[in-house]
Amino acid sequence: MHTVNCPNCGRPNRVPDAYRGKPLCGVCHRPLPWIAEADDNTFAEVAERADLTVLVDFWAQWCGPCRMVSPALEQLAREMAGRLKLVKVDVDGSPALARRYTITAVPTLMVLYEGRVVAQRAGAAPAPQLREWVEDAMRAPS
Ligand SMILES: [Zn+2]
Repeated sequence: MHTVNCPNCGRPNRVPDAYRGKPLCGVCHRPLPWIAEADDNTFAEVAERADLTVLVDFWAQWCGPCRMVSPALEQLAREMAGRLKLVKVDVDGSPALARRYTITAVPTLMVLYEGRVVAQRAGAAPAPQLREWVEDAMRAPS
């Protein structure tokens, strides 16, 4: 559960990690930025069964580039509210996911749609570059 301020009216809203559909502001009903967390136990519900494109951020506490890329990812979640869900996975707390997706470096970013991996990349990048990469992945034929 995260509290986010609505980018349209500024009202704080509580947004659960797993939810059917897209979270909307309780006051103005515009889409809210969605930033969730998942681990081995909750990934299926939070990421694979989401109704919109998911950007997974595999990160670790000890990883400097992860701290650099984190604000860029949160900016994307705000800019693409209603179209994109950001899901953060701490690899040290999620060994099964790290094995399943062969995460050998952090940060690794992955675009998921209906539970399928449509793009994956390692390393940090500035927000505009990441946005282009995500938009390309969303346009890719499925
Ligand atoms: Zn609002």
